[in-house]
Amino acid sequence: MDYEVVVVGGGIGGLTVAALLAQRGTNVCLLERESRVGGCAAGFDKFGYSFESGYGLYAAWQPNEIHDRVFSELPVDPPEVRLLEPGYVVRLPDQSEVALTGKTEPFEENLRRAFPECANTAVAFYRKLAPVSAALRRTLQRVPDLLSASSSRRAYSLLPEGKAAAQILTSSQQTTLDRLEGTSWRFRRFIDVQLQALVQANSADVGYLAAALTLSAPREGMFGIRGGAAALANSLADSIRQSGARVRLDTPVLRLAYDSKGAAVGVVLLSGETVTASRAIVSNLTLWDTYGKLVGLNRTPTEMRKRLNGLRSWGAYLLYLALDERAATSLVSNHVLALTHWHEAQDHDPETSQLLFAAAPSWDSRGSHGKRAVTVHAFTDVDDWFTFHQDETELEERDQQMLELVWARLHSAMPELGSNIEVIDTATPRTFYDLTRRKLGMVGSLSPAAGNFWLNGPSYATSLPNLFIVSDTTYPGGIAGLTQSALVLANSLTSKQSSFRLVRKL
Ligand SMILES: Cc1cc2nc3c(=O)[nH]c(=O)nc-3n(C[C@H](O)[C@H](O)[C@H](O)COP(=O)(O)OP(=O)(O)OC[C@H]3O[C@@H](n4cnc5c(N)ncnc54)[C@H](O)[C@@H]3O)c2cc1C
Repeated sequence: MDYEVVVVGGGIGGLTVAALLAQRGTNVCLLERESRVGGCAAGFDKFGYSFESGYGLYAAWQPNEIHDRVFSELPVDPPEVRLLEPGYVVRLPDQSEVALTGKTEPFEENLRRAFPECANTAVAFYRKLAPVSAALRRTLQRVPDLLSASSSRRAYSLLPEGKAAAQILTSSQQTTLDRLEGTSWRFRRFIDVQLQALVQANSADVGYLAAALTLSAPREGMFGIRGGAAALANSLADSIRQSGARVRLDTPVLRLAYDSKGAAVGVVLLSGETVTASRAIVSNLTLWDTYGKLVGLNRTPTEMRKRLNGLRSWGAYLLYLALDERAATSLVSNHVLALTHWHEAQDHDPETSQLLFAAAPSWDSRGSHGKRAVTVHAFTDVDDWFTFHQDETELEERDQQMLELVWARLHSAMPELGSNIEVIDTATPRTFYDLTRRKLGMVGSLSPAAGNFWLNGPSYATSLPNLFIVSDTTYPGGIAGLTQSALVLANSLTSKQSSFRLVRKL
């Protein structure tokens, strides 16, 4: 079959690009290897429960923000979203708590109570973040490709933001830690646990601007989606079909198809069929799978191969749980981010120090018989899960050990759960690999280091002129960031000036 654009992968990134292109009149086809769309966002159904694989915390759903912008173009309605208030609660090992709420006075009061040893500096840290984040968010609305704009266009785009623009331009090389001077190590751990949960790195590694956006997100408004992120994926797939384009499920792509001159002309399916793309191929695979599988390592430039070797991301270990509705209603919040150990003299270790408890909201319990679906997230090193290839029973034992460990840590962090909660299933990096084929089941974004906040060229460009990428490994910010990068790519592919000849600077 011949198309103008072929999209490989039906995760949120691929679906959003395909939905926008299809509605703009491009002849597009999306190929997904699974029997359903969504990838990491697809969720997990068992015994009448419908679990989210993610945290269930979605940013940028306010009017004029990225999801509103995208759905204003599509022929379908967005899924129902509701503001979560608070976004989440951070619980510390001494059982003190901070609720991340948009209400400034109670939030600051809460900070002062939780961190009396550095109350003023902690409050000042958050007060300085807010205008930087608000200015960045407004500018991203006006200039969707702000992160990849040239330095002069970036400075010009930020001009309407006045004083905040100057702060943004002067802090782009700073780490979060640089801005935490005068705060206690307890407060730093409070920041680390949030950065690790949301961008997979700690305050020493995450740039100040990325931290401003990340740490302000729960205060500016996190939303729950009825039906979870899977509902978003399904709306986007419906949109593609309603615009007259094709979504082919159960269609694994093997590699790119090349012509005799070595130019990519489409993709070869596992079935042997070739699907051609006259204008562009969009990969929704991770950076390492785009090169390792689609392009082929022998056609991958040496510089990129070196870069891929150095890239790492975390694995996720999930507990899928059922919680009694009565116990759920007395929880401090549906989302509790627990710092389980201080580990005072060491670096923050996400594997042993944090858990995220995410209960489905009461207005969308996703459970049966007075129960709510809950997902608990722990970080895990992916290598531990891929050394068991020979013997599946060893893998099961590892899963059982991990379950017992996380279960004990959960009850010690949240004793109020008592016996009102039971295990339905677990998910390991192997599960994520089986569901998405992401290398070693590594999930989530690559951490945004200080100097990388401004991207080195468009996030979608690859070493091949007509191959583009949309993935959480090339753009930060969870599903909101992914949607932003999908819009930028769709704009580029449909702009009249687009030459389709962009080569990423490696
Ligand atoms: C534990 C966890 C919690 C999260 N919580 C949140 C949250 O609360 N809020 C938020 O905003 N974000 C959250 N995220 C992030 C977000 O879910 C992901 O970043 C996002 O869903 C990734 O989408 P993607 O389009 O980049 O890729 P993927 O979801 O990886 O999709 C890629 C798709 O390509 C398909 N594919 C792979 N190989 C082939 C092939 N050869 N042929 C055809 N198809 C193929 C896969 O099956 C898959 O459907 C969370 C992520 C994780 C892991």
